[in-house]
Amino acid sequence: MAYDLLVVGSGLFGAVTAYKAKQQGLNVLVVEKRHHLGGNIYCEDNDGIKVHKYGAHIFHTSNKEVWDFVNGFVDFNRFTNSPLALSKGKLYNLPFNMNTFAQIWGVKTPKQALDIIEEQRRGVKGEPQNLEQQAIALVGKDIYELLIKEYTEKQWGRDCKDLPAFIIKRLPLRFTFDNNYFNDTYQGIPVDGYNPLIEGLLAGIDVEMNTDFLKQKAHYQALAKEVVYTGPIDAYYDFCFGKLDYRSLHFNTQRLEQDNYQGNAVVNYIDKEVAYTRVIEHKHFALDTNTKHTVISEESPLEWREGLERYYPVNDDKNMQLYKRYRQLSKGTEAVHFGGRLAEYKYYDMDKVIASAFHFSKRFL
Ligand code: FAD
Ligand code: UDP
Repeated sequence: MAYDLLVVGSGLFGAVTAYKAKQQGLNVLVVEKRHHLGGNIYCEDNDGIKVHKYGAHIFHTSNKEVWDFVNGFVDFNRFTNSPLALSKGKLYNLPFNMNTFAQIWGVKTPKQALDIIEEQRRGVKGEPQNLEQQAIALVGKDIYELLIKEYTEKQWGRDCKDLPAFIIKRLPLRFTFDNNYFNDTYQGIPVDGYNPLIEGLLAGIDVEMNTDFLKQKAHYQALAKEVVYTGPIDAYYDFCFGKLDYRSLHFNTQRLEQDNYQGNAVVNYIDKEVAYTRVIEHKHFALDTNTKHTVISEESPLEWREGLERYYPVNDDKNMQLYKRYRQLSKGTEAVHFGGRLAEYKYYDMDKVIASAFHFSKRFL
């Protein structure tokens, strides 16, 4: 056989696994369906502005091993994500913190804010069973109605009562005046965008782009002893149990001949009357881009259908039952390993995907 390992997909899971395999002395081939490397962290240059082609990607982690690893390939700037939310004509700070509470209720102290939230939380008894209950248990009814309900229902295309509670647990709740969206120890954006990270990981490794593995499965599988597959798990099995649901996104990306459009990298649009959930102004990720123009992307969620990119797994009960059947099947598929957000049908951040590829490499390579 020509290769020890075939890696399907050049996103973070595939690229980190390929890198680790090469370090072990394995001969690796990576195949990638798209015309570029990096999966969803890919950036496109627009006259000096790094455009996050598949949505805002902010690196944040508390895992020192992961942080040291990525810093071995690229330098990071000190970007701190502090998005704003526009709801009913007014701007609010995110995540939910003392600035938000002061803007909504006019409170001045943590105690005043906590008293209001405690009062509004009372309706939820016991362990929250869905996103609505979880949100109210976390921040109370006012914030749920002003900043969560409409955004979430747009994002997921489902009622908050039908969504899993864990989605909202991602967001910090703070009783300090601190607009940092993440609690992690380390945070930043690679100063030259994410492409050099992937190029560094895949340096010296054979790569075939514009290649859909599933269209030539037998041919590629015969080239290597083992396969790491990072595409959608249901597609690998030709949807034999049915299709998993995903949310897709449409990005309306525009170049504007003005130097500063919204004064912040990310502004969330909560109201259901606005089709998009976020507007990203890419130059603000870099902190030092002095261009006369700017590039913005309006991000609109929609249900995934054939021909669109799969962005978010929909981890509700129905889909998790279906995923488990594929997962069970994959355990019996010899010499093929499934990893990453599509193959594991998991809402994974970048650092977690890297940590998972480390774990996989230690166990199997
Ligand atoms: P992917 O990046 O999806 O890579 C899979 C690759 O496999 C793709 O390149 C695909 O083309 C290829 N592929 C699939 N099928 C085939 C096939 N049949 N043949 C060949 N190739 C194939 N994480 C953060 O930490 N911070 C953020 O701010 C953040 N923001 C995000 C915003 C959005 C809108 C989204 C959707 C995700 C965000 N993430 C963020 C998550 C992050 O994108 C993922 O953690 C990471 O990209 C997952 O890497 P992966 O390798 O698992 O998947
Ligand atoms: N969310 C919300 N209002 C906001 C931002 C987020 O209700 O202004 C909710 C929404 O349900 C979303 C979840 O919090 O799906 C997680 O938000 P995050 O910003 O982490 O989403 P991602 O960046 O993964 O799209």
